[in-house]
Amino acid sequence: MKFLEDMILTHGEVRPGGIVKVDSFLNHQIDWKVYREIGKEFYRLFQNDGVNKIVTVEASGIGLACVAAQSFEVPVVFAKKSKTSNIDADLYSARVHSFTHGNDYTMVISQKYLGPTDRVLIIDDFLANGQAVMGLRSILSQAGATLCGVGIAIEKGFQEGGRLLREEGVRLESLAIIKAIGEDGRISF
Ligand code: 5GP
Repeated sequence: MKFLEDMILTHGEVRPGGIVKVDSFLNHQIDWKVYREIGKEFYRLFQNDGVNKIVTVEASGIGLACVAAQSFEVPVVFAKKSKTSNIDADLYSARVHSFTHGNDYTMVISQKYLGPTDRVLIIDDFLANGQAVMGLRSILSQAGATLCGVGIAIEKGFQEGGRLLREEGVRLESLAIIKAIGEDGRISF
């Protein structure tokens, strides 16, 4: 999506460790026009897949998921992040390593909100090593739900998440794929 690539080039900041900051329009201040375009594009890509639920993980995936959900007219369920690994019996859970924070956490979704009749589109803001999406996939399989596909706003193609998911046959659609970040911090697509 050229529009998103241009926003990243104009407003993105590169931090050590291959972290891309897009706080001015995506992750802190929210540019509703960018969100609207991303939501519409996810709908265009997945509208024929029988999606009846969108699943994401708190916090930064929620806004994008909600905007997309307006086009799909389906509910959003977001996984909550829990510090403890003591999980109640009525929760699905997966242990995940956070790329940005460098720690492990448990993501949980109530069994009330996900089940075998659900056809799910997973949405998230970034894809790096794929841990967050893998955790959500694990929760979907615990619930017996069907994964229709994964929609990502910004994939960092120089990390392994995209390759791993595509190799496993997951339908992954990333709207901007960063191919490389140069030594001078220049982003290329
Ligand atoms: P993964 O689980 O694929 O390794 O990392 C994806 C998660 O980490 C996303 O939910 C996102 O919030 C966060 N993340 C990974 N890389 C970046 C990045 O470069 N910038 C920002 N803002 N978040 C990132």
